[in-house]
Amino acid sequence: MPRTTTRSTRSGPPAATVIARRLGQLEELANDLWWTWHEPAERLFRSLDPARWDATGHNPIAIIRDAPAGLLEARLAETGTAKALDSVCRARHRELERRTWFDRSRRRDAGDLKVAYLCSEFAIHESMPQYSGGLGVLAGDHLKSASDLGIPLVGVGLLYRHGYYRQQLREDGSTRVLYPVQDPERLPVEDTGVRFPCPIGGRMPQVRVWRQRIGRTCLFLLDTDLEENAAADRELTEGLYKGEPQLRMEQQVLLGVGGMMALEALGEMPTVVHLNEGHAAFAGLWMVASETSRGVALEEAIESVRRRLVFTTHTPVPAGHDRYPMAMVEKALAPVLRFGGLPKRVLGQLGRERPAEREQPLCMTVLALRLAGWSNGVSKLHGEVSRDMWTGAFGDAPADEVPIGSITNGVHAPTWMHPLAERFWRSQKVSVSCGSPTSRPLADAEKADPRGLWDLRNRLRSELVRFVRHRLAHQNCCRGGGHDEMHEAASALSEDALTIGFARRFATYKRAILLFSDLKRLARIVNDPKRPVQIVFSGKAHPRDLGGQAFAQKVFQTTRRPEFRGRIVLLEEYDMAIGRALVSGCDVWLNTPLRPHEASGTSGMKGPLNGGINCSISDGWWPEAADGRNGWTIDAGRTCRTPAAQDRADAEALYRLLEEEIVPEFFTRGRDGVPRRWTRRALHSAATVGPVFNTDRMVGEYLDEAYLPVGRRSGGGERS
Ligand SMILES: *Cc1c(COP(=O)(O)O)cnc(C)c1O
Repeated sequence: MPRTTTRSTRSGPPAATVIARRLGQLEELANDLWWTWHEPAERLFRSLDPARWDATGHNPIAIIRDAPAGLLEARLAETGTAKALDSVCRARHRELERRTWFDRSRRRDAGDLKVAYLCSEFAIHESMPQYSGGLGVLAGDHLKSASDLGIPLVGVGLLYRHGYYRQQLREDGSTRVLYPVQDPERLPVEDTGVRFPCPIGGRMPQVRVWRQRIGRTCLFLLDTDLEENAAADRELTEGLYKGEPQLRMEQQVLLGVGGMMALEALGEMPTVVHLNEGHAAFAGLWMVASETSRGVALEEAIESVRRRLVFTTHTPVPAGHDRYPMAMVEKALAPVLRFGGLPKRVLGQLGRERPAEREQPLCMTVLALRLAGWSNGVSKLHGEVSRDMWTGAFGDAPADEVPIGSITNGVHAPTWMHPLAERFWRSQKVSVSCGSPTSRPLADAEKADPRGLWDLRNRLRSELVRFVRHRLAHQNCCRGGGHDEMHEAASALSEDALTIGFARRFATYKRAILLFSDLKRLARIVNDPKRPVQIVFSGKAHPRDLGGQAFAQKVFQTTRRPEFRGRIVLLEEYDMAIGRALVSGCDVWLNTPLRPHEASGTSGMKGPLNGGINCSISDGWWPEAADGRNGWTIDAGRTCRTPAAQDRADAEALYRLLEEEIVPEFFTRGRDGVPRRWTRRALHSAATVGPVFNTDRMVGEYLDEAYLPVGRRSGGGERS
């Protein structure tokens, strides 16, 4: 018989105060995105209300806010839930209190280092859809690793009312652009209480500052969607990469100038400012103006800023760099210039590629390059291309004297390694340790049992198949699909076909449709009854990139052709959740950019953490990783004169690779059913990609090559 006492005992129901305390703990946990890379925490949130977990896009705050009365209390009264909560909270406290790599390393003696990392987008988790693609994912992974390593760093960005757009494809495959409102009440952000007016041209919108906790680091997000602001001012934080150039530039004033003002108002003035992409470059100008406002001479002020400013450029495509008419910028920045007692011509001197050419616009990248004491591209190849590209900004100096180095991107391994994969590596005594730039996760992956790896691959592929069917059913439902289509969704893909993934922004240079250049040949590859192949696509094009949207449409229509139905599928609304499912479940990760347009690319670094293998054009990060045994390089053997000819040559090389190497290797099985060469390649891929292309290594390099030395440099920007 259950005892009923008022005190909480082993078997009695817990007292109301206990439940209230647990609710408090749950809320605290939900408000620290630390949970997003600690699977027991995620499991706990999902278990509270599995249906709502999916319906809210994996959003614990929304679950807490909108749970039916009594539900959470009832769940938290259960012993199992209480235990899980307790264990997760203890793990978090241990983690937050432990001595970090930074605490232990000599770098701590470097003084009062405090880095502010400015970026227009951050991808921390799918429940916070404030990102469009790789730039945001990189920024989010940077913050997570900074937290793991214990590097004193805060992020600064904008909180967009609509986030990025949501993609829905119509019956004809054309893109519907949806802008759902993101309610801050249902996001993991806390109001810092800080408000300040940010001067933009003749306007002074009030800015509110939110704080998002990400373990040891935090991210400050600026927001002008306040009642007291005029409509035009509220628009500043309406959406990511939305609107006319004028609005875009004003958003960038808010990010750069407002971002620095916010840090000052918060009492968080950094010793080093890292501009992740040129969007935030006006921060540098604000820093110059702060110096000159105190009577420092301009040249000296610029030198002083260079000892505090780090800049990372992210695109080798000339059109990808923001340029604004000088008059537009002069007007928007007039208050900053006035504050610093600076003449307008400073903008031209610092922001024109060739300052003497007065008709040239201001280029955000040039402004950042001129003011930063360290600049870098995001792969070795991209560093090279960038030095070539920006000789003009450095007085037509020879390319090897252009002060742009390189730090190759990485991914945050705990975010992108599937829990089953982690369990597998641990069971094989393979190191998965993180939290230090030299921990080199998976370096010893080749000692793992190939058979075990194959079992893992089969499980992850099955999970992906289930995931895809579920998503297809949902998509069909949104499009108003009939019974046949629902049936088709339920039987799409197969659990043992060679599964190829292609998921990335549908920017045209990424050439999503390269594989479709010869549909007959593709159909033969895909429909071989003994050696079936299937392909999962996912990706969004920028809402204004009609070329990219046409690619999405072409992919969509191809999936509808009878010979490809259920074998080639397209998942809408590519986000981090789809990303995680794909990079773990796909056997081969396909990357087909037009070289050298991919600055780095990071999605290919995620697959090998899960036993996946890359098949890529030799572009971005891949030339640094490829050793001929850890994946496949699509090599047409020549550089063609026109993009169309290059497409044809690259497609031919890709088909040949698939037919002659990839498919046969996957289906050549030993007597035990294990494809030996395949598993050897997968383990070698894990062992060569995992230890190097991760953000612990990357953030460590930023620390040692940029954050710490930048203050010691006067000339700045030596190459690595
Ligand atoms: C990793 C990732 C990216 C970056 O992919 P690229 O290889 O750089 O194209 C973009 N979007 C999402 C959701 C990701 O997870």
